Amino acid sequence: MELYQMTAWELAGLLHSGEVSAREVVAACYERIDAVEGDLKAFLTLTPEAALSQAGSIDERRKAGEPLPAVAGIPIAQKDLFCTAGVRTTCASKVLQYFVPPYDATVISRCRDAGMIMLGKTNMDEFAMGSSTENSAFQVTANPWDLKRVPGGSSGGSAAAVASGEAITSLGTDTGGSIRQPSSLCGLVGLKPTYGRVSRYGVVAYASSLDQVGPICKDVRDTAMVLGVIAGKDPMDATSADIPVPDYVGTLGRDISGMRGGIAHELLYGEGIDPQVRATIEQAVKQLEALGVQFDDVSMPHAEYSLPVYYIIAPAECSSNLARYDGVRYGHRTERETTDIYDLFAKSRAEGFGPEVRLRIIKGTYVLSAGYYDAYYSKALKVRSLIKMDFDRAFEKYDFLICPTSPTVAFEIGEKADDPLAMKLADICTIPVNLAGIPAVNVPCGFVDGLPVGMQLMGAPFTEDTLLQVAYAYEQSTDWHTRRPAL
Ligand code: GLN
Repeated sequence: MELYQMTAWELAGLLHSGEVSAREVVAACYERIDAVEGDLKAFLTLTPEAALSQAGSIDERRKAGEPLPAVAGIPIAQKDLFCTAGVRTTCASKVLQYFVPPYDATVISRCRDAGMIMLGKTNMDEFAMGSSTENSAFQVTANPWDLKRVPGGSSGGSAAAVASGEAITSLGTDTGGSIRQPSSLCGLVGLKPTYGRVSRYGVVAYASSLDQVGPICKDVRDTAMVLGVIAGKDPMDATSADIPVPDYVGTLGRDISGMRGGIAHELLYGEGIDPQVRATIEQAVKQLEALGVQFDDVSMPHAEYSLPVYYIIAPAECSSNLARYDGVRYGHRTERETTDIYDLFAKSRAEGFGPEVRLRIIKGTYVLSAGYYDAYYSKALKVRSLIKMDFDRAFEKYDFLICPTSPTVAFEIGEKADDPLAMKLADICTIPVNLAGIPAVNVPCGFVDGLPVGMQLMGAPFTEDTLLQVAYAYEQSTDWHTRRPAL
């Protein structure tokens, strides 16, 4: 097996025993990038010099006998909305095309402190708004399983990079599904942590009450390893929770028999779920039953309101967060002649933001305006609470809930670009989770027409360890996670 095909934990073993060096692993990833990036277009920026020099210093420290974290020397691809000191951070937007942050996001510094080596910054939907990575201002990323199809989004670059072997691990962000849905479409494990589990400091904001950072990896063990690196209280983010971080890798392998699972009825049998995807999830439920999990059907009566609620709250928050890109303090400023400061704002923003971003800002300012605030925004907040209460009730009785992650397998590039509603339906199963602030993980569970299908396991706040334990037990009893695209 080539080095780039291995998982992080397999490589960690080889690095630890001295059979391979971090420089060799990093070089293998860049060779793979040279070979396939022309077709995939997963990266917006590559940082080979910094990566190879960091790998060299990890190798020296290891040779000198210094005890290093398990992930030291493991390459990682970072979504291009994490601030990286000295390295361009574009958010796939013309507004930030030349933005070089003066500081690192906490997740970036935690990865580096653990010895993980950043290969570069990955493509995404502009400001994380989208489900296909087609909304990038710069390039369209392809799905390694079928280059005519999308990798999902908005963290599509991170997912495509890992699925193709360009990178061993990656981070994404998830506001309405952007870690889990691309993981599902690319056959990977992707975990959206509980709101507050991971610091958002230095993460370009989309919708601050929904955004979370999480890993996209080849298997459950890798996901557990990387989550352990980034999770935990950060004094720089007041919304990060001061709750101890469990040993996620240590809980893998524990028996799951006797656990209780709930089938999220509306999210499996509701409209829009492809029948073959549904059948694949039903098969996964059977497999979990064989491992000793007891399942019941659980109704989520308010789940059907998730999309309208999300498409009020997320635009409202984005319209506020994106007000800072005014062409004055930083980011794109128009070079055309302007008449006054408002004209400067308007021209800079119209040139810098793509159509989807502009649409959401307009919607967000509308639902927050004096005349419509009560009718839309405050009503959406109330329904958000009802959606959360559906989950609270379910978790009184069940250890986890299950449904598909994506209602369909990967769709073709361009297929949904002109149909905004169809595109938004791609997140129908993932959005309720962000509204409730709970953790959820995508786990590969089969193929339809040669394309990966993923199941979503959802849990009560701060039960990432339980979700990973269930995911691991399932994964170890199947071989979906060992399949790689023939690229
Ligand atoms: N597709 C959803 C949106 O466009 C979710 C995106 C995300 O999770 N960042 O808002």
